[in-house]
Formats: sequence, structure tokens, C-alpha cells
Amino acid sequence: RRATELAAAGQPATTRDAHRVEVVANIGDVEEARRVPGVGGEGVGLLRTEFVFMERRTAPDEDEQTRIYEAIARALGPDRILVIRTLDVGGDKPLPYMPIGAEANPFLGERGIRLTLNRPDVFRAQVRAILRASSAGRVAMMFPMVATMAEWRAGKELVERERAALGVPAIPVGIMVETAAAALLAERFAREADFFSVGTNDLTQYTLAMDRTNPRLAPQVDALHPSVLHLIERTVSGAHAHGRWVGVCGALAGDLTAVPVLVGLGVDELSADVPIVPAVKARVRTLSLAECQETARLALGAQDGAEVRRIVEERHAQVQ
Ligand code: PEP
Ligand code: MG
Repeated sequence: RRATELAAAGQPATTRDAHRVEVVANIGDVEEARRVPGVGGEGVGLLRTEFVFMERRTAPDEDEQTRIYEAIARALGPDRILVIRTLDVGGDKPLPYMPIGAEANPFLGERGIRLTLNRPDVFRAQVRAILRASSAGRVAMMFPMVATMAEWRAGKELVERERAALGVPAIPVGIMVETAAAALLAERFAREADFFSVGTNDLTQYTLAMDRTNPRLAPQVDALHPSVLHLIERTVSGAHAHGRWVGVCGALAGDLTAVPVLVGLGVDELSADVPIVPAVKARVRTLSLAECQETARLALGAQDGAEVRRIVEERHAQVQ
């Protein structure tokens, strides 16, 4: 199967009834970026920039970051999109040179965009580096952990200010949907944000109020839980009302059982780990959009993730 998938890897992922789904990759460094074209990745839906900041004593400066983002953009070539996520630390990912005061609940504390908005020097250097690197490819930027319009606007304003100062063309700027707040108000965010990328790992932990790192909860933390699916549906309808696209970059996008549900919910782009990209594309090609829409409807009416999985298994042949 793997050989067949790889042979077809360069072809688009189109359903039997001619619906195209973009299949892109999640990456965490330059080396992974180089592997994306070979597996048929149509771009990068999530570059986790934490690697640039981890395991060092001081923050990387603007020039150093520019060189790294440029190298990644060049590895992808001029036609593949590169969605760069701004720094997402805090929560379970602390940094020695960005100390956060003691927090009773770090996952509900100063993390993602909340943290970078409080460290404008670090945020500004990263935003400038992303903007400077944007001439090397098809670069977009997104903010993690957005919960309020005020956070989005503050981030977007900083981008616009630096863009004007640098005198470079505008690039698409979007938000990650990882909180119920962002999903429920997606229609309002979509008036201003260029795109959405659903981070199902965090969206699931916050919706179910179950820590994604707690091994005892692991069997229950299922991103196919209908409550999460309702939030994805809401995100898609809010986005599409304003002509914005929606990707999924959480682990759910690489779960072959979830693919028919996500396609049926109208998700435009699936971003999976590099080695899984060919299998996700192959899975899309076995599907029909009309059947997936019915699957999604049934999944939204299910009572838990296990029932959603049963519905998919009954309706769609498993990839062997
Ligand atoms: C997510 O939360 O689904 C996501 C893609 O971000 P991370 O896993 O890096 O928190
Ligand atoms: Mg996340």
C-alpha cells in the first residue's frame, strides 16, 4: 500500500465526486521541510516555530529567525504555502528566558498569543522575521491560542505596523481555533482574519476540560467527540460565510477515521505529520463528498467519539 500511495503522492487529493482537499504537512524544522515535496505535501499548514526558541539561553534575534524561515520557504518552493505559527510556549512548554510567574493552571494561563502580546520585543522580532522571509515563498502567518477579538486585533495591528515599516507586501494572517471562544465567534473573526486552522489537540482538551498530557485521561480525550465536531462545523460555516478557508492542523487531520468526517464538515485543508501525508491523500481519493456530508451529519448527532468512530467504520471501507 505504501508504495502505491507514494507513487500517487504528487497527484492532488480529489474525491470521487471531484471535490478537492488540500493536503499539507505539519513540520517543526528545516530538515522536515525538505521532506514535504517528496511525500506530495501541497505545502505546510503548521510550522511550529518553538524549535527556534527552545534549548537556548536567550531569544533568537530577527536576522537569525529570518534566515531559518527563508530556508524553509525555499525548501518548499514558490508554489507551496507555508503557514508559520508565531511562538506557542507557556502551558506545558516553558522557556528559561521568558519566565512566567507561578500559575495554578498553566494550560489556562499565559500561553500562546497571550504570552507574546506581553513580550512585545520577542513578538515583534518574530513577526518582522516572518515578513522579511515572505519574499522567499508563499508565506502566511497565524497566531496560536486566540480566545478574544482583542488578542487577534492586537496581533494583527502589530503585523500591520511592522509590515508598513519594512515596506513589504501584505501576507495572509489567520488564527488557530483552539478555544471554544474562537470557534463560537468564528463568523466575527472571519470578517477580519484571512483563514482559520483548527488545532484539535487543544480544542479537544479545552472543550472536554481534559488535560491532553494526562495518560489516565488519554482514552477519553477523543477529538472525534461530537462536541468538538460541532465547534468545527461552526468554524467552517463562519469562515465560509466570508470566503475564508479552514484547515485542521491538530492530530485529527492525520487520523484516517476522521478524514471523512472533516471532509464532510467542509474543511478545506488537512495538515498532517509528514509521513502520514500520502495516506491522507489516498484516503480522500476513496471518498465522495456527498457521502462524507451524510457521515458528518450522523457524527454530529452521535453521543460520543466511540459512536462517531463506529459510524465512520460502517459507512466507509477502511484503507487496508
Ligand atoms: C493543536 O493544539 O491541535 C495544535 C496543532 O497545536 P499544538 O499541538 O502545537 O499545541
Ligand atoms: Mg495547540
